[in-house]
Amino acid sequence: MKSTYRVVVIGGGVVGASVLYHLTKKGWRDVALIERLELTSGSTWHAAGGMHTVNGDPNVAKLQQYSINLYKEIEEISGQSVGLHMTEGLMLAATPARYEWLKNIHSKGRYMGMQTELISLDEAERLLPLMDKSQFIGAMYDPIQGHVDPNGTTYAFTGAARKAGAEVFTHTRVLDTRQRADGYWDVLTDKGNIVAEHVVNCGGLWAREMGRLVGLELPILAMEHQYLITEDMPEVVAINRDTGKMVMHVVDFDGEIYMRQERNGMLLGTYERNGVPWSPKDTPWDFGPTLLPDALDRISDNLEVGFRHFPPFQKAGIKQLVNGPFTFAPDGNPLVGPIKGLRNYWVACGVMAGFSQGGGVGLALSNWMVDGDPGFDVWAMDVARYGDWATRAYTRAKVVENYGRRFRVRFPNEELPAGRPLRTVPLHHQWLSMGAVMGDNWGLESPLWFAPPGVKDEFSFHRSTDFVHVKAECQAVRNAVGISDISSFAKYQVSGAGAHAWLSRVLANKMPKTGRLMLAPMLNERGKLIGDFTVAKAADDLFYVFGSGAAEKYHMRWFDQHLPADGSVAVKALGMDLVGLSIAGPRARDVLAALTDSDVSNQGMRFMDFRASIEVGWVQAMVGRISFTGDLGYEIWVRPEQQVALFNALWEAGQAYGMRPFGSRALLSLAREKGFGTWAREYRPIYGPFEAGLGRFVDLGKTDFIGRTAAAAERDGATKRQRVGFVVEADDADAIGDEAVWKDGAVVGWITSGGYCHHVECSYATGYVDSASIATDADAGNWEIEILGERRRARLQYEPLFDPKGSRMLS
Ligand SMILES: Cc1cc2nc3c(=O)[nH]c(=O)nc-3n(C[C@H](O)[C@H](O)[C@H](O)COP(=O)(O)OP(=O)(O)OC[C@H]3O[C@@H](n4cnc5c(N)ncnc54)[C@H](O)[C@@H]3O)c2cc1C
Repeated sequence: MKSTYRVVVIGGGVVGASVLYHLTKKGWRDVALIERLELTSGSTWHAAGGMHTVNGDPNVAKLQQYSINLYKEIEEISGQSVGLHMTEGLMLAATPARYEWLKNIHSKGRYMGMQTELISLDEAERLLPLMDKSQFIGAMYDPIQGHVDPNGTTYAFTGAARKAGAEVFTHTRVLDTRQRADGYWDVLTDKGNIVAEHVVNCGGLWAREMGRLVGLELPILAMEHQYLITEDMPEVVAINRDTGKMVMHVVDFDGEIYMRQERNGMLLGTYERNGVPWSPKDTPWDFGPTLLPDALDRISDNLEVGFRHFPPFQKAGIKQLVNGPFTFAPDGNPLVGPIKGLRNYWVACGVMAGFSQGGGVGLALSNWMVDGDPGFDVWAMDVARYGDWATRAYTRAKVVENYGRRFRVRFPNEELPAGRPLRTVPLHHQWLSMGAVMGDNWGLESPLWFAPPGVKDEFSFHRSTDFVHVKAECQAVRNAVGISDISSFAKYQVSGAGAHAWLSRVLANKMPKTGRLMLAPMLNERGKLIGDFTVAKAADDLFYVFGSGAAEKYHMRWFDQHLPADGSVAVKALGMDLVGLSIAGPRARDVLAALTDSDVSNQGMRFMDFRASIEVGWVQAMVGRISFTGDLGYEIWVRPEQQVALFNALWEAGQAYGMRPFGSRALLSLAREKGFGTWAREYRPIYGPFEAGLGRFVDLGKTDFIGRTAAAAERDGATKRQRVGFVVEADDADAIGDEAVWKDGAVVGWITSGGYCHHVECSYATGYVDSASIATDADAGNWEIEILGERRRARLQYEPLFDPKGSRMLS
């Protein structure tokens, strides 16, 4: 072992091995992996090795596709077999809701080039004679599924990395990681110390413990997981004989079961509903490659369903039961990326499907380390998606919930209850008393809609119980005035002599004058969208910046990395130190005017004006004339202890003008009518600002801002795709996001979000299509959006459906 390496990867499970390999593939040779026992000694060695490309997030699905395609490559380079069996797969649905979910997944897969097929039950039974087709109502075939040998795969990754110069040290434990004054890392091991430029925490079951060494409490928890292996089954042997193939990989969602062939029998695993955490606080260092005690009783209900769905199992003997732990983040996706405030400290952990995702995680992380950018849209697995509010107890509640629901349908209007309420606004109880149905906005309770007594959300892929009530909220805004809570936005204070110049460099638009607002995208060096903000200038050296609440940590990490070293700029995330209310609608000005002696007339406070401090009722507030509803509106910001007083004043004054509360579902419906996009849907790091329709907010007249060169090239070149809007001839289900867009029988794009526009009364969807599909006569041809398996006619909608001239915002 040398005393210095450019990178030390901690952990020799499949994830660490993949990171090591990908770093060498990117050309970094001076890299070492350190493993406390033999490779695979965490959760990797006893994994079932199953893999598939299906994931709720298409960007993660894409990385899963990459992982699977990688296996031949590492086998060839290393000479080590990964034991690859591409058996193909079947996904089975026993309930209508699950079948609708499969249809959704199928539609999503189309634009990613996945070749899934919805097949008849007769066909399914032909492919999988083990099933009793009378137990199911639908099936999807996926040609890209199978399994690998976990050990072989890990050794193939490290073998390929070694051939490129990487070093691997087993039976060496990292005891501590300490950042030095020069920014390098002292990595202390029981076999000697190393100085490294970068440290990567791939500690798997011990990633939490490794994180704690640097003051991090990573939101991950290990769960016990069981699968059984049967004795030889004559039916399996018969399938092999008759088809010349192995039995297919199977996911039976309603049985909460996955299975594949293992020798001449079957391996059957299950996610029980009442899952059991393993080592919730500290993972013991003396835990080696050992199994946990069997707990057959915990999975007996699932097995009963399995035996009914797949009758040959009733006669099969159980040869072995495997119970082992592996880690999850609260939402089940990996935690990957750099850590704010810890230069060159990286994590790749919480990877619950190492054999579907390990390759993609290694690729994204190595791109990030070498090029400064993951190269893909990794928002769904970025470690920055969780804030400090994700405590150990919260993580436990969410992971247990997620594990128990692993194979259950999550409806688009379904909010999950565990770990809530965690963060609340001062008006929380007020909103509840008014009937608010709350949503979980990254740990913060926010009103989704307001329900009359006795009415609640019925979970569905179709329009549901909230439909008429959300409509009434929208009408109140469009015809009178509505009030809503906007505390869930992220708010940043940027101050200092260098604030203006710095913001002008990190954001793509020009900065506003004092007392004005400006919309400004943020781009990375590749000219892709990594943020979308409203900037308010309060004074020469003081700005307030508003953005997506879910992305606060993600954006703070970027701000931090780009702050000047001379201390001329300070950026502070205000979090819940600043909370807000929005009033919107044609009577909004009347309400505000009744509560302030400041001039808020159309001339006194114009559209996009900002007042850093005016009295509203009894309180001092910051007020911006802007509204995401696309109507006349104001965003009013106060300290948390003043939110109740602000609400009382606005509500009381609002009664004369027909004020109603409105939630985020109404807000999104209203914004949709204006064609406005949102962060993490329309605006993500895979899109450029011009293709996203934000080109008018990019000031190429500025000589210097991050991403300028790439943005100029995007404007001047031919973009491959373009964001467009559609009015959809939907039935009682609207597009929600990720549906395929068809033109003349070919898939030419995908939907990023959609829903019903309650004021203009139509179904609308927006998304990205190949530029070629709209290059000539865009209106010609037959456009369709695939919703729940049916292709619905659609027409392109160029202008906002509501108030295309923007007169409501301006007047
Ligand atoms: C029963 C079971 C079945 C599964 N089936 C599947 C499946 O079918 N498909 C699938 O994709 N996934 C499956 N998984 C999940 C899969 O095992 C994990 O996704 C994967 O193993 C995660 O790999 P990892 O490298 O992140 O973590 P780990 O495998 O836990 O590796 C971490 C490594 O880091 C080492 N380490 C930690 N701290 C230190 C230190 N301080 N110094 C040195 N070394 C250290 C550990 O010894 C360990 O080897 C299954 C898991 C279980 C338990």
